[in-house]
Amino acid sequence: MVTENLNQVRENIKAACEAAGRDPKEVTLIAVSKTKPVHMLQEAYDAGARVFGENKVQEITDKYPQLPKDIQWHMIGHLQRNKVKYIVDKVALIHSVDSLRLAQTIEQEAAKHDVCVPILLEVNVAQEETKFGLKTEEVLPLVESIAKFPHIKIQGLMTIAPYVQNPEENRPIFRQLKKLSVDIAAKNINNVTMSVLSMGMTGDYQVAVQEGATMVRVGTGIFGERDYSKQAQDK
Ligand SMILES: *Cc1c(COP(=O)(O)O)cnc(C)c1O
Repeated sequence: MVTENLNQVRENIKAACEAAGRDPKEVTLIAVSKTKPVHMLQEAYDAGARVFGENKVQEITDKYPQLPKDIQWHMIGHLQRNKVKYIVDKVALIHSVDSLRLAQTIEQEAAKHDVCVPILLEVNVAQEETKFGLKTEEVLPLVESIAKFPHIKIQGLMTIAPYVQNPEENRPIFRQLKKLSVDIAAKNINNVTMSVLSMGMTGDYQVAVQEGATMVRVGTGIFGERDYSKQAQDK
């Protein structure tokens, strides 16, 4: 099932790229494997997936040693400062930086491990109360502060769009994030690129691709529905 789903998602990304006149190579599919067992990740790996997204530090550290070393792990969930140390040398990209304090902790831990950590800033474009992320107007000042950190490299922006029935409803959200990234790129800030735009999930990734996403984060569309009740019992 995972292999078929993965191929379907790839086809859909290709179609969305064609509709928008984009090269499918510009779009990285992140297989969001949170709550899913290692054998399902292995199946995705065997079908060619190399980039996996997780939203819990514990799951990354559990799965990391059980799977091939050429996987790129992306931290896409809210990150607590006291857990940064467990993943700073394991993740290829942290999508969810939304405060100076968190960035300071990443800088300290990255310096200890002598690594440079690529990050995205998470923007709560829709200003939903229940979500983490920066307000649009907070992004540039934070970029300017973090740009000075030698062990962090800002590579772009991420947003989690609202849950909607019709993905078209999120098109303006994706446009706003794209515009913000273009505006920030135009400032030519040292040590900062805006090459990554992480937006679009199972319900709306085709629209996100049409609006310029360079990374889409697809979980359900690849691995099926998540069963949180079962996971809670297991723990
Ligand atoms: C769970 C999650 C996803 C994937 O959601 P689906 O709707 O299952 O595709 C994407 N991004 C983030 C940040 C997530 O936490």
